[in-house]
Amino acid sequence: MQNKKSNFSEWYTEITKEAKLCDLRYNVKGFVIFMPWSVTSMKKMYNIYEAEMERTGHKPAWFPALIPESNFHKESKHVEGFTPEVFWVERAGDNKLEERLAMRPTSETAMYQMYSLWIQGKSDLPLKIYHPSQVWRYETKATRPFIRSREFYWIESHDAFATEAEARAQVQEDMEMATNVIFGEFGVPFLFFERPQWDKFPGAVSTYAADCLMPDGRVLQLPSTHLLGQNFAKPFDVKFLNEKGESEYCWQTCYGPCISRIYAAIISTHGDDSGLVLPYSLAPIQAIVVPIMRKGSEEAVEKAAREVVSLLAKSGIRAEVDFSPNTPGFKYNEWEMKGVPFRIEVGGREAESGIFTVVRRDIRAKAQVKKEELATWLSHEGARMLDDMKKKAQASFDSRLAKADSMEALSAELEKGKIVAVPFCTMEKAGEACADAVKEKCAANVRGTRYGKHERAHGKCIACGKDAAAIAYIARQY
Ligand SMILES: [Zn+2]
Repeated sequence: MQNKKSNFSEWYTEITKEAKLCDLRYNVKGFVIFMPWSVTSMKKMYNIYEAEMERTGHKPAWFPALIPESNFHKESKHVEGFTPEVFWVERAGDNKLEERLAMRPTSETAMYQMYSLWIQGKSDLPLKIYHPSQVWRYETKATRPFIRSREFYWIESHDAFATEAEARAQVQEDMEMATNVIFGEFGVPFLFFERPQWDKFPGAVSTYAADCLMPDGRVLQLPSTHLLGQNFAKPFDVKFLNEKGESEYCWQTCYGPCISRIYAAIISTHGDDSGLVLPYSLAPIQAIVVPIMRKGSEEAVEKAAREVVSLLAKSGIRAEVDFSPNTPGFKYNEWEMKGVPFRIEVGGREAESGIFTVVRRDIRAKAQVKKEELATWLSHEGARMLDDMKKKAQASFDSRLAKADSMEALSAELEKGKIVAVPFCTMEKAGEACADAVKEKCAANVRGTRYGKHERAHGKCIACGKDAAAIAYIARQY
């Protein structure tokens, strides 16, 4: 297996192949097959995220995949931003369609015309809808499975409010959801940045996006949440009657956690040089029983192994026995590659004593556990494993934050694979020229300012030398 630290790109490719997470042989460029091992985990991720959506008052809906071109043209910045990436449907059977239909790259323009029908009075607000779906974008950047492909799986939520303050509070709640799920349940650390004005979602007032850090020092954008203001409400006529009987435009937000991309972050954050390491709650198999057959004890071992699985199943633990003809050593490697959290070894002695050797995947710690205590022990240790994975990931993330006050110092920190805080002139449109200078000199991007942490600007902009008005974070990106 490739070394994760020194050869991340090859390591990633190898793990997606060897753990059978996807198949790249499909004959439409940029489209991949997501295989059972990854989809089983991603379905669990969907369940967790959707539960969080519902906890925060969102209701599910399923919207059509096709969007009329005329809807798409209603918000000019949106259409400008997305048009180069749209797949179009122009024919149906033998007929040329009167109007082209976009395969949704995101659903604002499908949903908001319906919102204008659904929202009449103040009692219809807030309207909070989430839409688990896949979307299609004609990406021109290099595609990587889970990280970027032309079809991906996400949840998008679209909320409408009577006031700007409520919309701003929603953006905050979206970020808290990300923390609860992506760090809390999946153990992936990240920071939220307010993106610069030149790099926001097309049509938004402001964009807040989470960046996690991959082992090669490049950041990967996880969910982003957008304050849309009334920018979409006006062209789509999303209005309500206030108490005085006057018509007002709604304030809107949208949010898009991409499940397949968060899965990429889980692979990359927790995996090691033996393969995947999956959080206990997401693993398709939580405990794999490996029978160790010796002549004479086969029957007893087989019986004990099957007993363990049915015992664990009664407690809702996903366990299986590997009865394949391979050697125990081969099986250990294979299930480590697939990231199964626990391995239970069952030989003749274990069958007789009812005490099993259990090995934890992330730290390879071994424990002797009595049969009757196995289920409780696994649930407890599974939770501890996630805690340890979180601590380790957070420590690694924190150690890769740096500061710089010149282009040279920035460049040196970026070479070490860090996210770097620098003094910067402005995050308004005028700062884009300085961001371009950074891109040219350091092959890195301005990710924005830290959300939720007021950082006083000091010194001079590293690009233009003017007084800094912001502390900007800069990193290489996917
Ligand atoms: Zn500047």
